[in-house]
Amino acid sequence: MSGPRRLVVVDIDDTLYPERDYVRSGFAAVGAWARDELGVDGLGERAWAAFEAGVRRTIFDEVLAAAGLEPTPELVGRMVEVYRTHRPDIALLDDARAWLDAVPDDVVVAAVTDGPLASQRAKAEALDLRRWVATIVFTAELGPGRGKPHPAAFERLERELGLAGPCCAYVADNPAKDFVAPRRLGWRTVRVRRPEGLHARVPSGDDVDVEITTLAELDAALGPAPAPARRAAP
Ligand SMILES: [Mg+2]
Repeated sequence: MSGPRRLVVVDIDDTLYPERDYVRSGFAAVGAWARDELGVDGLGERAWAAFEAGVRRTIFDEVLAAAGLEPTPELVGRMVEVYRTHRPDIALLDDARAWLDAVPDDVVVAAVTDGPLASQRAKAEALDLRRWVATIVFTAELGPGRGKPHPAAFERLERELGLAGPCCAYVADNPAKDFVAPRRLGWRTVRVRRPEGLHARVPSGDDVDVEITTLAELDAALGPAPAPARRAAP
């Protein structure tokens, strides 16, 4: 046994679980906080309705104003903090769980995820990801400007796990930033385009090798494991 022959790196949000569920869970936490701290009812429901209506970035300002409160930067900042640090009520999608449970011995799985460190850590914990993945790279820990599409996270995994180029694959959902770096490193790129995903309507760019809609199609999308890049051809 000469160690894993292939590295499959997965994104977390909208790849392993529905990101909408995190948003809903975060708004429920903010709603509970607003009831206790501000004496306002229904704020979480209003925030979710605004999200469903397509509002982004100004949701907390809007729901505070609708409740007759001034959306000061301080108040909005506290709500963002509650949202990011809440314990999320999320679960792996069945197809993701089934794929993770069936990973063969010669495949090592890791994760690369962008976003505020507290949120991403809480998600990884709620999903119990360490059970299946060797390493989770939180790009927020790599320093400013090192989030996707920066290649730092992917280069670090290549070094750490001793596999490179065609022996590696990245499985993710956001065509705007997810596939640039892995493609440049010669990795296979698989886009999971779930109908409910936040980026589902964005078409794939030419840095996507194959598009799938659930991880039930992932093994076929990955294809057979290539010969390890470390070993010289006979
Ligand atoms: Mg994602």
